[in-house]
Amino acid sequence: MTTDEIIKSFDNYVIANYGRLPRVIDRGQGSYIHDTDGNEILDMFPGWAVSGIGHCHPKVVKAIQAQAQKLLHMDNTFYTELQGNLAKLLSERAFSGKCFFCNSGAEAIEAALKLARIHTPKSKYKFITATGSFHGRTFGAMTATAQPKKFENFQPVVPGFVYVPFNDVAELEKAFDDEVAAVMIEPIQGEGGINVATPEYMSAIRKLCDQSNALMILDEVQTGMGRTGKWFGYQHYDVVPDIITMAKALGGGVAIGAMMAKPEIAASLVPGTHASTFGGNCIACAAGIAVIEAIEEENLLENAQKMGKHAAEKLTQLKDKHSIIDHVRGKGLMIGIQLTAPGGQIVNDCLKNGLRINCTQEKVLRFMPAMNVTAKQIDKAVEILDNVLKNIG
Ligand SMILES: *Cc1c(COP(=O)(O)O)cnc(C)c1O
Repeated sequence: MTTDEIIKSFDNYVIANYGRLPRVIDRGQGSYIHDTDGNEILDMFPGWAVSGIGHCHPKVVKAIQAQAQKLLHMDNTFYTELQGNLAKLLSERAFSGKCFFCNSGAEAIEAALKLARIHTPKSKYKFITATGSFHGRTFGAMTATAQPKKFENFQPVVPGFVYVPFNDVAELEKAFDDEVAAVMIEPIQGEGGINVATPEYMSAIRKLCDQSNALMILDEVQTGMGRTGKWFGYQHYDVVPDIITMAKALGGGVAIGAMMAKPEIAASLVPGTHASTFGGNCIACAAGIAVIEAIEEENLLENAQKMGKHAAEKLTQLKDKHSIIDHVRGKGLMIGIQLTAPGGQIVNDCLKNGLRINCTQEKVLRFMPAMNVTAKQIDKAVEILDNVLKNIG
């Protein structure tokens, strides 16, 4: 089929709930993807952070291939060595918690919310989340997402959610009471525009939760698995959360989500309270283990720190040349470029010139390359963006 034929047929049969770019991608390797017209595209937003160690990492591909010949799936009626091993690897890199596996970020959020409700007394039913957050599209996760335009057409939403302004300690204190089961935020808001939580905010959440036996949940779906230069975003702060959620980069391109909770809290999720048929799937767990091993064998946490610094410097230099750039912010390879005007056209123009980036919240360009990105690839990306901005300005 030609590219046009593929798109035409696709649109006839697939629901149009995404604004898609008119390209058909059929393969990817590392920081590059290729479309069916033979174009190579430098991907600085691989898989919306799913392909955190690049497309088709050889170690992940090999692990999946080997596991596929052994066992594709085993239901949670039985034990598998893989699921236990992945949980151990994650636990050792976080706060010695216990894991529940599912298939996406939203499911990990739902698991966290359910655990918070079942673990705390019945009188505690409220969840506090922060404006600009993004937690997913299922009903609970959507309601947790404190952006009214995301849920206004779906009323009534799940009861019990209270929204506070992000990074505002005073407003958080005002909203807090004995009925709060949990506070949930992202250490760095992703879809919300790369907004970094302040240390004071993190500490205030921890303190308020401790004082009233509420739980601190951190959504690490986007910040987790090394993107910020540490395994998890919270590790940049002097706090330990009670629960974290993971997904995106965890499977290196395979669908997987996980929720980790401190053991004494995790104990509340007894048989019959929560489940996921595909959770802990053999292929997904094999991929997850390979991702963690690859990150360590290739020193990718260090590379994310180094390349993050390099990219932030290069992008900040563009600010002097282009007045549309207000400032650059973020941590590690989670970088936002705050614009003074909408950036949709910039994203489209970059793509025409062989570079893929993302724009969120209308005026924030998201630059989130794979953790094994090279300085040369970053320089090339900055050069393309520079040229695009020249022609726009
Ligand atoms: C992407 C994302 C989610 C939702 O994950 P899905 O896999 O799309 O359900 C939740 N939280 C954060 C912080 C995310 O970035």
